[in-house]
Amino acid sequence: MGSERIKYYSTNLKSETVSFREALLKGLAPDGGLYMPSAIPLLDRNTLLSLHELEYHELAYTILRHLTGDEIDEKVLFQLCGDAYDFDIPLEHVTARRYIMRLDSGPTASFKDFAARMMSRMMQYFLASEKKSLTILTATSGDTGSAVASAFHGLENIRVIILFPIDEVSTMQRKQMTTLGKNVNIIGIRGKFDDCQRLVKSAFTDSSLSHLPLSSANSINTGRLLPQSVYYFYAWSRLRKHSDEKIIFSVPSGNFGNLMGGLIAGKMGLPVEKFVISTNMNGEVPEFLGTGKYTPVVPSVNCISSAMNVGHPSNLARIIALYGGIMNEKGEILRQPDMKAMNRDLAGISISDKDTGNTIFECFSKYSKLLEPHGAVAWKGLTSYINDHGISADQLSVTLETAHPAKFPEEIRSVTGIDPELPASLTGLDKLKEEYIVIDKDYENLKRILLEI
Ligand SMILES: *Cc1c(COP(=O)(O)O)cnc(C)c1O
Repeated sequence: MGSERIKYYSTNLKSETVSFREALLKGLAPDGGLYMPSAIPLLDRNTLLSLHELEYHELAYTILRHLTGDEIDEKVLFQLCGDAYDFDIPLEHVTARRYIMRLDSGPTASFKDFAARMMSRMMQYFLASEKKSLTILTATSGDTGSAVASAFHGLENIRVIILFPIDEVSTMQRKQMTTLGKNVNIIGIRGKFDDCQRLVKSAFTDSSLSHLPLSSANSINTGRLLPQSVYYFYAWSRLRKHSDEKIIFSVPSGNFGNLMGGLIAGKMGLPVEKFVISTNMNGEVPEFLGTGKYTPVVPSVNCISSAMNVGHPSNLARIIALYGGIMNEKGEILRQPDMKAMNRDLAGISISDKDTGNTIFECFSKYSKLLEPHGAVAWKGLTSYINDHGISADQLSVTLETAHPAKFPEEIRSVTGIDPELPASLTGLDKLKEEYIVIDKDYENLKRILLEI
């Protein structure tokens, strides 16, 4: 099992199919499309039914083994999973058969740790076996930067350069990046997030830097997608009453990488009743599901669930590909996907900030569960779906909590009056020494640094 090699194709269908290794190290396909597994392997029933006996890292190994074929040595993959997943994944009962899965216990208290930690280790494996090195260059507006910096911290063969807008990230977010040191280099930019992204793009297209092996490790990388399938299997394996029980997931969505992980799990045979796509007021995907017409939200709407303020999700092309359609890199739909099948599997709901705040209050006062804005969007999406469709109280359902409430202290304090307790991973940052440089937003400054480091 798992010894066959899965090929990865580009959603633009104009590039060659590649191995997992290539998809991982390349990031984006040469035709500007996103890589997708060409055939998603179905787990056999025995494997599916034995998942509940496995610890999280063993379960991750089992799933990833199927998706990476024989490209990573079995024993090594097992070690990498053990190394990446050394933290808890709490599943909390709320009411009836509804649960919250907290994906916030990793080193940066964000669900992005799940993907970033595994992607970094798989990259390092391939680089080390080829005696190559790589520079990861990424721009961040907050959470992604800290997850990537932490995930690559201390890994050999890889150096990391992260650009952030000095006035647009919180002190906590900055300290999560600037106190690491070693192979992690942090650069503050006197400018906005868009300036940081522009600088990164300039470096990637600068032919005089082509001798530097640069990679972006951003959220469209296949290596970030696949590890996000695993926790869907984990939740089901722990909560199911019988082997065929179907589960509803509510996924708080921005760029839809998290949801794509779930959809891949579904294709691998996980018994899913429905994926509820819960967005904030950037509701272009729920609207697309309803009308079949896709209109990006430009500019994106600022909501308190800030990591989901996305008006044109980067993973939408993958979802459309999964349902037989084609969306190009400009966001135009060249072939309409099977809308009927999409609406059978997915239900989209867009939630206002007011409802998000009310949900944080309600969950806390009614169930003593503390949610942050993204998890609250998911919970509200789930309860609306259950109420609107008269779903029975016996239906198993799980919402994903994607960040720790302590990362959003103002929002939580304003509706509940309490200060969320800091998790261990976020305490003590004040005592550590910060190291970063600050530069102006012109490209020559960045280029000089890239050539020097
Ligand atoms: C990134 C992020 C999301 C959105 O995840 P996508 O995979 O982009 O849909 C949701 N919540 C939090 C806290 C995030 O950091």
